[in-house]
Amino acid sequence: MLPPEPAFFAETLLNWYKKHFRPLPWRETTNPYAIWLSEIILQQTRVNQGLPYYHTFLTAYPTVHDLANAPEDEVLRHWQGLGYYSRARNLHQTAKFVSEELGGFFPENYTDLLKLKGVGTYTAAAIASFAFKEQVAVLDGNVFRVLSRVFGISDDILSPLGKRTFQDLANKLVPANEPDTYNQAIMEFGAIQCTPVMPDCLFCPLQDHCYAFKHGLVTVLPHKSKAKAPRVRHFHYFVFQFGEDFYLKKRLPGDIWQGLYDFHLLESDTKALSLDEMIAELGILQQDVPMPNIKMPSPAYKHVLSHQKVFAAFYHILLESPLSQNVTNSTGLSFYSKSEIEALPKPVLINNYLKDAIFK
Ligand code: SF4
Repeated sequence: MLPPEPAFFAETLLNWYKKHFRPLPWRETTNPYAIWLSEIILQQTRVNQGLPYYHTFLTAYPTVHDLANAPEDEVLRHWQGLGYYSRARNLHQTAKFVSEELGGFFPENYTDLLKLKGVGTYTAAAIASFAFKEQVAVLDGNVFRVLSRVFGISDDILSPLGKRTFQDLANKLVPANEPDTYNQAIMEFGAIQCTPVMPDCLFCPLQDHCYAFKHGLVTVLPHKSKAKAPRVRHFHYFVFQFGEDFYLKKRLPGDIWQGLYDFHLLESDTKALSLDEMIAELGILQQDVPMPNIKMPSPAYKHVLSHQKVFAAFYHILLESPLSQNVTNSTGLSFYSKSEIEALPKPVLINNYLKDAIFK
């Protein structure tokens, strides 16, 4: 069986797309700012989850200048719940760069788009083709899957060699006319027709030309090497309350959730802190807290990130006097009222705890 000719492959996908595409707002614009926003939001995020964030950002920041001039805390607060917060920080920094250095105009080709912070090969190709009709192929998980199955490519899609093989093939297939619609079409085809599990092979217009279908390899392709086991971390949060207010701190660079706010954190290898460990930590913070002021630890909260699994327990502690300035200086903790806490950008896990235990 011969693989499909590029022109036939593109034509088939374009015809399929015209009948099956989902109308999505970023498909109805050629504004590079809106397309860039949608692409950054949709990285590692499902369309349904990303859609409200897209509307929120475009409403709050209709132009790249509005986003550039927004405070970082506000941008992170709008991003809250999407995860991968470095994307939000890069988004903000790139907006500043485009606004201040490029006069608000995005670069108009793939090579220059790639120079923007947070813009990788996929995003550069998406913006270049959707906004400027450049003949450059997008390569995301959906495209890998379709190409791997139809053309019978068994290279590991996570290996550098595999990525090159797929990119070379993808570049040969993208047509000169309608590169934008073709790119949308192949991704949509992967999302709706040639899905990871139970693809709709029986009613597939590429069935007669599909290597995986002919050879019974639909469940085998694409080949992806196993990811490393995630790192498991145990966080113990000291939720200090004095009067009606709480102590939180902004997370620093070098770890997850940079720029978001959480409580005083002790990390250990164990799920629960012993009483001795807790008293020792309070001693470091110069706090002599009567036992009745320490509430029962919360149930464990779990948050799964791409390479880490975080388990968190919260220890709500009622202080009889404020933390000393020495302690607040060394820990970065500051005092916040409940309404101030609402407005701070926080990891979802912290937000869930607050809803369950503090704001209930
Ligand atoms: S026949 Fe099945 S595996 Fe092949 S392209 Fe169509 S949906 Fe995908």
